[in-house]
Amino acid sequence: MMLRRGSLVMEVAMLVALALASALGSAEGAYIAYNTSQGIVEGKINVHLVAHTHDDVGWLKTVDQYYVGSNNSIQGACVQNVLDSVISALLADKNRKFIYVEQAFFQRWWRNQSPMVHKIVKELVDSGQLEFINGGMCMHDEAAPHYIDMIEQTTLGHRFIKEEFGKTPRIGWQIDPFGHSAVQAYLLGAEVGFDSFFFARIDYQDRQKRKDEKNLEFVWQGSRTLGSSSQIFAGAFPNGNYEPPRGFYFEVNDDSPLVQDDVLLYDYNVQERVDDFVSAAISQANVTRTNHIMWTMGTDFKYQYARTWFRQMDKLIHYVNKDGRVNALYSTPSIYTDAKHAANESWPLKTDDFFPYADRANAYWTGYFTSRPAFKRYVRTLSGYYLAARQLEFLKGRSDSGPNADALADALAIAQHHDGVTGTEKQHVADDYAKRLAIGYTEAEQLVSEVLACLTEGKLNASCRNVSTKFEQCPLLNISYCPPSEANLHLNKRLVLVVYNSLGWKRVDIVQIPVSSNSVVVRDSDGKEIESQIWPLSSPSIRIRNFYARAHAGVSPSNAPRFWLAFTVTVPPLGFNTYTVEAVGSQSKHEGGMSTFSSVFVQEDAETIEVGQGNLRFIYSADGKLSRILNKKNTVDMLVQQSYTVYRSYNGSESDPQASGAYIFRPNGTIPTGTAGRIQLTVVRGPIVEEVHQEFNTWISQITRIYKEKEHAEVEFIIGPVPVDDQVGKEVATQLTASMITNKTFYTDSNGRDFIKRIRDYRADWDLEVNQPIAGNYYPINLGMYMVDRNFEFSVLVDRAVGGASVADGRMELMLHRRLLHDDSRGVAESLNEVICFPGECEGLTIQGKFYVRIDPLGGGAKWRRSAGQEIYSPLLLAFVEQDEVEMGSPLIRTFSKTSTSYSLPDNVAVITLQELKDGSTLLRLAHLYEMGEDKDLSTMASVDLKKLFEGRKINKITEMNLSANQERATMEKKRLVWKVEGAPRPETVLRGGPVDPVKLIVELGPMEIRTFVLMFDYIFLYTDDSMR
Ligand SMILES: [Zn+2]
Repeated sequence: MMLRRGSLVMEVAMLVALALASALGSAEGAYIAYNTSQGIVEGKINVHLVAHTHDDVGWLKTVDQYYVGSNNSIQGACVQNVLDSVISALLADKNRKFIYVEQAFFQRWWRNQSPMVHKIVKELVDSGQLEFINGGMCMHDEAAPHYIDMIEQTTLGHRFIKEEFGKTPRIGWQIDPFGHSAVQAYLLGAEVGFDSFFFARIDYQDRQKRKDEKNLEFVWQGSRTLGSSSQIFAGAFPNGNYEPPRGFYFEVNDDSPLVQDDVLLYDYNVQERVDDFVSAAISQANVTRTNHIMWTMGTDFKYQYARTWFRQMDKLIHYVNKDGRVNALYSTPSIYTDAKHAANESWPLKTDDFFPYADRANAYWTGYFTSRPAFKRYVRTLSGYYLAARQLEFLKGRSDSGPNADALADALAIAQHHDGVTGTEKQHVADDYAKRLAIGYTEAEQLVSEVLACLTEGKLNASCRNVSTKFEQCPLLNISYCPPSEANLHLNKRLVLVVYNSLGWKRVDIVQIPVSSNSVVVRDSDGKEIESQIWPLSSPSIRIRNFYARAHAGVSPSNAPRFWLAFTVTVPPLGFNTYTVEAVGSQSKHEGGMSTFSSVFVQEDAETIEVGQGNLRFIYSADGKLSRILNKKNTVDMLVQQSYTVYRSYNGSESDPQASGAYIFRPNGTIPTGTAGRIQLTVVRGPIVEEVHQEFNTWISQITRIYKEKEHAEVEFIIGPVPVDDQVGKEVATQLTASMITNKTFYTDSNGRDFIKRIRDYRADWDLEVNQPIAGNYYPINLGMYMVDRNFEFSVLVDRAVGGASVADGRMELMLHRRLLHDDSRGVAESLNEVICFPGECEGLTIQGKFYVRIDPLGGGAKWRRSAGQEIYSPLLLAFVEQDEVEMGSPLIRTFSKTSTSYSLPDNVAVITLQELKDGSTLLRLAHLYEMGEDKDLSTMASVDLKKLFEGRKINKITEMNLSANQERATMEKKRLVWKVEGAPRPETVLRGGPVDPVKLIVELGPMEIRTFVLMFDYIFLYTDDSMR
């Protein structure tokens, strides 16, 4: 109906129309009361309009820039505007609803608001107009984070929501991460207590098939071990994104047609817009089961002026419902989930995960599994350090005024964002994450040093202050830089080394520190001399040390330490042991016990070299390359080669513009690494460890360490600066090739937890059309990968998130470094070309890291993967202090353990959280480390005796919680929705621990079970003789 002024005829017509319009309940050109109150209508297609904003906790701008709205020349985004305007838009109509996700932003905003706004917002939350969804600090990535970090960052957000609003988020909302993990579905979904879990990005081939078969929504059993006891309803959005249907974008500057319903104005279009709405709804309903569909009304940083969206949705709901063909309503994912549940439908079953993700042919998002490898390692290092720092904080009692580990918790949480640890942010944003981590670390380091001083001085209680022992730690030990251990050891002084073990088991391990003297003696906590070994630093290590100590610490290590010192330490569970290092003068009459100086020699031509003094032997052929691995204790004897492959990154400039970039891995052939000929090989031999130094070319070197007492090898690599003078980006992988028939099969972990079977060029859910045979077979690795044949298991473990693949039988490869010169057109608009500048002189990033290799007889590998995996995640924490003779007169307490004298956790259980909360209670998480059937002895019910674990303290109250500790486990189980699964029930045996008797205090854990408790202790822990040995 179009009306024009002008003629009498028209005015008469208008009067008639006015009469008609008022009969319909609205007046032309005047106020229209939109009816937005519609709920679900049975028998119609219900279009659930979910108003949302997707606010990246750092990407093109830093988290703070996004919050305040600065740096808008990069991206016009201001989260303050979003939250301010959403609140007033919700107040304008009580039927409007909005969901908010990222608590890092919400918390920033919340602390800026007045008590009056707090009251209003609480009312909006109580009424359901504003709902917190997902509820972690960020929307974490699902490929690069470790499961412990995912739990921590979710807990941080969930407990805040619980404390401030008394609410527990019901829905998982992982709409932007680039592929989805099994651990997300079962652990961060079902075990958190979510009723459903929604996301957008799955492989384009998979998505098409699921649309065709109406399988976009399903029941997901992420854990083979926990099966149906840990399943969740899950849904993938039909368009592969989290935006509204085309034509329904309503930010101020969007160009979708607005609903123009003022008859006095031109371009009245109500019927057209209603028709558009109905047609979009029907097309989505055609690929969706039940008559409920969800429209995600919003996208990145939208609702900065929320009324533009709500005004249009008010009108659409009003007119679409008047039209009556479909039913439109303000909704949330919770309302939508309840409607799906009420439909009583049976859903297809999904197992495993959604990796890797391709959004089109030749566009596999598998590069970010490795992008920014140094940052990924920094995140992982601090994750393990944080766990230890919280334990030590618990031992002393937390202090709100600090130092505490809160800043590190916050920085780690933000870094798990899907453009954080992924490496897909702009460089200045990566620097911002690293800065936050460094600040958090600095405070946690102070906390750790103070608690260790309290412990060693015997003053362990909350009032421990003014400790005199000033411990130093060495965060740059990875580049052989450790000022306290390198200091010249005077003859009347000694270096005291406190070694803390955050694992629940007694640990025997090797400590390796740089020292400046080649004649030292190491003593254990009884003052007894112990065996130690000394050898010179290699030149690649010295090179990286000199440059990076200046770049990172601003200091020039003038006197490079010339030697490594290694010795074996034995440390009790959740405790420490103390060792001392003393210099021995050449004129000294010291006898015996002095460090053994290693022999160092270069491989001669045509010489085969065998390395290793214990059971494990590595054999190198005459060309300097690894040729064979054998283990004298078991039957392992295998031909194994190891090499580096440099992929040439596709530049996107030819007919197909998809380049390799921060997200996407797209190789374009390989280039020679220089490994065709003979590799320079140097061997270090000694009583504790033997090393093989290989230089593959001028920018790839590695040291393989074989410890006498260990049956795995540790491989330390130094890669970089990756040369790009030829204008070609390069991606560096190491390949391990064994004489094994593996039938295209290999296994990779899910966020460091369950292992998932992978088959090359195959997906269980659809017939894979292979267009990238290398990139399309890459999977995220956080713990490790392995392959098996009829007799053996070959495992490799990693020290950070990387990408890994088996692109040929018997071969595994890990992508270790990437330096790229092109952007891959997914928004970051920068090439991943990391450089380090100092002073003003720039070179490409060099990375240092480790991976670990072991071959076991079939069935024997899990034990090593699980226990060594914990040791890699939680390395021994070292703290140093130098003492002179006077100080030696008042000796430190030399050894300590939190647990009862003879108590150690079972081999299949780890403490993954031990933290005193702000209210004085203690959060404890215990994790069973094995899957069902993974190990014949350890895939069994485990039990932990809390009385022995916390000897000296009485547990007054124990409450079992859900994973994110925002509700009691029993409450969560009671509320859990039960979903029907298509087909016959799968046979399964799920083993879970029973309730914990508050008197006996024994916690049982079934395979892969993680149990979370809040403990109240009866009294403050006093330093008892029992706990000191
Ligand atoms: Zn995002």
